[in-house]
Amino acid sequence: MSGAVAGFGMTSQRTRTRMIERLREQGIADEEVLAAIAAVPRHVFVEEALASRAYEDTALPLGFSQTISQPYVVARMIEALRAGRQQLGKTLEIGAGCGYQAAVLAQLTDEVYAVERIGPLLAKARANLRAIGKSEVRLKHADGQLGLAEAAPFDTIIVAAAAARVPPPLLQQLAENGRLILPLGASAQQLVLIERGREGLVESRLDTVRFVPLLSGVQ
Ligand code: SAH
Repeated sequence: MSGAVAGFGMTSQRTRTRMIERLREQGIADEEVLAAIAAVPRHVFVEEALASRAYEDTALPLGFSQTISQPYVVARMIEALRAGRQQLGKTLEIGAGCGYQAAVLAQLTDEVYAVERIGPLLAKARANLRAIGKSEVRLKHADGQLGLAEAAPFDTIIVAAAAARVPPPLLQQLAENGRLILPLGASAQQLVLIERGREGLVESRLDTVRFVPLLSGVQ
């Protein structure tokens, strides 16, 4: 039996290494981001029936019509947030889902807050993060369109669901030199990076993406 477990472990290790090689081929160059992704066992975060596909570079269903983010998009967003900065600093994630991206963020910074509007998903995130020894991520069941006033301001805000426009509280809760990244748009979405510089907000547009919608209220 221990042989079977060890066998699965080796397969998982090989597919994980392959996933990192693929991210590199796709242009992810920040070694710390690649190392953070390599360190998080994605199979822990997906449904058991899908565990064999955990290291494919695709979004996978989480239940409740939600998906676990595609590793390339997680890498791309975090790379853009880090570029030219030393630290992510105090980080807020909106749309924790099952906690995968929060786990990657927690590899890179000590202070991660994550908000999720679906209660049972948040419970999964809590269990998954505990299972991999990342219980220090602070999770809250709330509507992330309001940000997280009690812990603001944030050096980094990352939104994992698409909005038609930037929720104003997120801009208000962004620290000086802070960066916010989010997918904007309805069916056609684009990643938008916003930085609060000395002279105000500076916006850049990145990849075309597909995220689930940012919804109001909690359930
Ligand atoms: N970060 C997750 C991706 C989850 S998909 C990962 O690493 O895989 C996006 C999540 O955003 C869903 O779980 C959805 O319920 C959540 N979401 C949508 N609108 C939200 C809102 N207003 N506040 C908080 N979470 C929200």
